[in-house]
Amino acid sequence: MVVLKPVVINKPYILTSIERSTRDVITFRFESQEKKEVHFIPGMFAMLTYKDPETGKSISRAFSIANAPPSDYFEFFIAMINGQLTSKLANAKVNDVYYISAPYGQFQFDMDAGEKFLFLAGGTGVAPFFSMLRQAKSSDKKLDCAMLYSVKYPYDIVEKTELDTFEKEMGAKTFVTVTRPAEGDGWTGQTGRVNGEMIKKYVPDFMDRITYICGPPAFVTALKNDLTAMGVPEREIRAEMWGE
Ligand SMILES: Cc1cc2nc3c(=O)[nH]c(=O)nc-3n(C[C@H](O)[C@H](O)[C@H](O)COP(=O)(O)OP(=O)(O)OC[C@H]3O[C@@H](n4cnc5c(N)ncnc54)[C@H](O)[C@@H]3O)c2cc1C
Repeated sequence: MVVLKPVVINKPYILTSIERSTRDVITFRFESQEKKEVHFIPGMFAMLTYKDPETGKSISRAFSIANAPPSDYFEFFIAMINGQLTSKLANAKVNDVYYISAPYGQFQFDMDAGEKFLFLAGGTGVAPFFSMLRQAKSSDKKLDCAMLYSVKYPYDIVEKTELDTFEKEMGAKTFVTVTRPAEGDGWTGQTGRVNGEMIKKYVPDFMDRITYICGPPAFVTALKNDLTAMGVPEREIRAEMWGE
């Protein structure tokens, strides 16, 4: 783990792009006013702050950085859950100003470690993996990586078109599983929660890989338990969690 001091402290960032990625997730891009590049490691997060112009009150939340470093902007995949900050973001407009501090976190990806990787993503927990895969793609490195990505519904797959390019162009394999399949939803792929059996089925050489897990606490805890029960040493598992 590298200790990186936050270099951006409560700086104004302009909201330059708002794209609905799925029914519940919006991709937001915030650009710095002075266009200064920021170094961070894929997997790290930023603190995003909304300042209420009337009351002066601030609301700050952590968000995994989804774009690749270094960058003069931050991109986030944010689930609209109608909470304190997300209800502000649901009504945000291009050119709104938010405040960012970054980078933070010990969930860090070392692409040059020369290892093979297993990524396990639940919901918006796919965000840090986008940063990792985008970094590998922009550096033209072949990344020996397999990702199991769990979504509730088929329409929950974030940035689907780009996700497909990681496999087509870099050979990074992605397997999606839908935990709440429904008749008529058109999904013919894997269903059910990611678990040890699913990992064995899709990534039989999982023992040779460094594992990164990101998703809700129950997802992360269950998978850590399954992996350690299958003999994966804890030191080869990195994890980040949020949400419910
Ligand atoms: C390191 C880190 C990285 C994060 N990265 C992301 C990210 O990339 N994308 C993202 O959408 N969120 C991410 N989060 C969660 C984010 O920080 C907020 O907690 C979330 O956006 C809700 O904030 P809020 O103010 O709208 O809700 P609040 O008003 O704070 O909370 C409302 C309630 O919703 C619950 N809740 C929080 N998240 C979820 C969820 N996803 N689904 C259902 N219930 C939830 C809370 O536990 C709380 O009970 C991250 C959190 C951490 C700690």
